[in-house]
Amino acid sequence: MDAPTETFHLQPISVPMPFQSNDVYMYLYDGGETLTLFDAALPTDDAWDRLERALAERGRTVRDIGRIILTHHHFDHTGLAGRLAAETGAELCGHPEVAAAAALTYTYDEAHTAWMRGLLLGFGVPEDLVEQIVARRPLMKPFVHRVDRLDRALADGEMVDGFRVVHVPGHSPTDTLFVHEELGFSITGDHILEHVTPNPILRRPPVGQPRARSLVEFEASLRRTRALELGWCFPGHGKPFDDHRPVVDRILSTHEKRSQRLLAWLRCPPPQSLEDTSPGPADLPPSKGDLETPSPGTAGLPPSKTAPLPPSKGDNSVTPYEAALHLYPRMGSDLLFFCMSATVGQLELLESQGLAVSSTKNGVLRYAPVTANEPEGER
Ligand SMILES: [Zn+2]
Repeated sequence: MDAPTETFHLQPISVPMPFQSNDVYMYLYDGGETLTLFDAALPTDDAWDRLERALAERGRTVRDIGRIILTHHHFDHTGLAGRLAAETGAELCGHPEVAAAAALTYTYDEAHTAWMRGLLLGFGVPEDLVEQIVARRPLMKPFVHRVDRLDRALADGEMVDGFRVVHVPGHSPTDTLFVHEELGFSITGDHILEHVTPNPILRRPPVGQPRARSLVEFEASLRRTRALELGWCFPGHGKPFDDHRPVVDRILSTHEKRSQRLLAWLRCPPPQSLEDTSPGPADLPPSKGDLETPSPGTAGLPPSKTAPLPPSKGDNSVTPYEAALHLYPRMGSDLLFFCMSATVGQLELLESQGLAVSSTKNGVLRYAPVTANEPEGER
């Protein structure tokens, strides 16, 4: 069944993504107090042309847009926002942390490079791979036009033109649902996608604050979302879907399977486990569709030749990088940051459930399983 977009006064506009095969969607909504644009795709002439053409079909122009609402701060959802707001005076709205999160995510200075280098080395990623990832980052810069201010910050629970605002952090700290209870549809951004498991992307924290546990947050948000009545869901990528619960369940079940796989391996890592990289169905790297951050594709740098370090003798702990190699033996440097995000997320989830414990050794994070016969309170 096709989504009844006319009933919802909604017009989807798709824009091709750079270096990826999927599209990103923005949505025009013409059923409320003003013409509203949900999300703003990429900062390209192509995206602008597609928006103008969609507006022309309705006899409108960009000047008629009165409000722009963002589902989150990622670059493929904010590209035209600044230009549109400047040229039309439209009210720019979103999660209160959109500008701050964008500043932390999309900065290309030495401080950001140092943070990323430190983070990945601290996960046990070999130095040459870390340098490849750091070198690759600026390639995405032309596609990033971050939002640096909002006209209106939307608090969790408040209403904007008939839509209830629901904060659902996880994939990003600013993920927000816009639920039109009366008309029976929702703008869902990248929080839930029908065929893709959104990546719990590692985040650079504000100075002096601990790094957020993206997947732990995401799981809590998914359980909250599951209980909502969303009606038809219009996502940031892919086709609309009319029942969000099977989608939420599939994502939760993917996380659970990864947890079980990782836990079984942590509890009994075979000595040759790092050599045994025969991929199973669950070994595919996280799909690029959910990779919401710079990923300049496969035409870039080759995978590292550096072999992972074997776990030290008498130590049953592993580094996040070793765990990532277990889950994603075929990851190349282009997807490594996302594979690390997914893996660290799973390790943090296991730790939050009391099933694994972390420690730091020589500046590198390590995870060990919590064994059942260990006395309580020892950790
Ligand atoms: Zn996206």
